[in-house]
Amino acid sequence: MSQSFTVIGAGLVGVCCARHLQREGFKVRLVEKGEPGRGASFGNAGSFGTASCVPFAMPGILKKVPKMLLDSESPLKLRWSHVPGALPWFLSSIANSRRARVEAIAAARQSLLLHVHEGYAPLIEDAGAEQWVKGDGLLMVFESEAAFAGAAYALDLRRRHGVHMDILDGNEARQIEPALAKTVVRAVSLPDVHRTIDPFRLCSALAQDFVRRGGEIVQAEVKGFEIGPSGPTKIVTDTGTLDVDQVVIAAGVWSRPLAKQLGTAVPLEAERGYHVMFADPGFGLRRAITSVDRSISLADMHDGIRASGAAEFAAPDAAPDMRIADMVMRHAKQLLPGLKGEPASKWMGPRPSHPDSKPVIGRSPRHRNAFFAFGHDHLGLTMAGITGRLVAELAAGKPTTVDLAPFRPDRF
Ligand SMILES: Cc1cc2nc3c(=O)[nH]c(=O)nc-3n(C[C@H](O)[C@H](O)[C@H](O)COP(=O)(O)OP(=O)(O)OC[C@H]3O[C@@H](n4cnc5c(N)ncnc54)[C@H](O)[C@@H]3O)c2cc1C
Repeated sequence: MSQSFTVIGAGLVGVCCARHLQREGFKVRLVEKGEPGRGASFGNAGSFGTASCVPFAMPGILKKVPKMLLDSESPLKLRWSHVPGALPWFLSSIANSRRARVEAIAAARQSLLLHVHEGYAPLIEDAGAEQWVKGDGLLMVFESEAAFAGAAYALDLRRRHGVHMDILDGNEARQIEPALAKTVVRAVSLPDVHRTIDPFRLCSALAQDFVRRGGEIVQAEVKGFEIGPSGPTKIVTDTGTLDVDQVVIAAGVWSRPLAKQLGTAVPLEAERGYHVMFADPGFGLRRAITSVDRSISLADMHDGIRASGAAEFAAPDAAPDMRIADMVMRHAKQLLPGLKGEPASKWMGPRPSHPDSKPVIGRSPRHRNAFFAFGHDHLGLTMAGITGRLVAELAAGKPTTVDLAPFRPDRF
């Protein structure tokens, strides 16, 4: 087997794949159409969601969706022009919301979540990027007893997968986080959840370390492949062609057309999330906060408090609808009444999501010299390190730390 790898996409997943391949001794090149870490990885909520085995589609989703789509303050948005494109995704998602499927999906997600730390720790240490990571836990908050009762199955799934949780009342939650509104009546403290205070700077630090260790970053957009009898031999980019020995597609939501060109169809959709940044809020947060009623997250970042959320199904590159960012901002101000004024910035990023809430990690079913690593939906920051490690193990012909059967590219 030839020893050089070309990784397409320098988001957190691509950069972690590149670094782990490098650690296995391969010569690695990253090809990125923009700047490393500027895709979905740029503006996420920053939580290493080790307590997040719960999938997107839970039992009862079919009843909730129509109401959510009609509610202007709901996190779920669907561009009507995108309905025909997204319909198969939604139908498959509903099929995956059956309890037996949810149990299997949660177990598969958990199999990756168990290894988040060992996937990241060596990369963070190599890069000296410890200052971007903190370990102060997450607080999940509820503003009604009904919302808390509605989360019983999701909490039980977590508990059964060994997640440590402490149940608090509203006052106990405000003792931990005085900035929370009086409307908070219940909370679940998840002390073992870590976070980054800047996902973009973390990704940049890992990418810089990759270059320091002899890796090459080529700025070009991959348009397609030249394919020989044993797989892709060249990538065709907007600036010319490049010879490749082995390729990894890690281009986030944009992986779908690239995988298709290599003969594998995947139902990858853009689940577009938004954030707003309050640069100088005048107070801090001790923990990351997730509001279950509002489906938003709040976190103290390097540059201020970030409020993020929403799931808008639309084409990945369609213009952002900043009214959704404004909705996230309104929710944030209601949950943290001390947040005042206009945000310093607003952002949209496309989560790469499959309808079964699992990434694709594995070798291309058609070509032995092609590997896939994409579709990490709400957990791409969390799972990037272990994904990179698994790709590198596969590439080196080693047994993989995690059974990759649930993540096969040809499972759809
Ligand atoms: C609002 C929000 C909050 C989130 N919160 C969390 C969280 O708290 N925890 C968590 O774990 N996850 C979270 N996520 C999800 C996480 O951000 C994503 O799953 C993750 O960033 C996906 O990483 P990626 O590397 O696969 O994709 P991306 O970061 O999108 O990277 C893909 C890269 O590929 C490049 N590319 C694409 N096509 C080509 C091409 N043809 N040629 C060359 N380059 C190409 C792109 O320019 C891009 O840089 C959140 C997401 C959002 C939107």
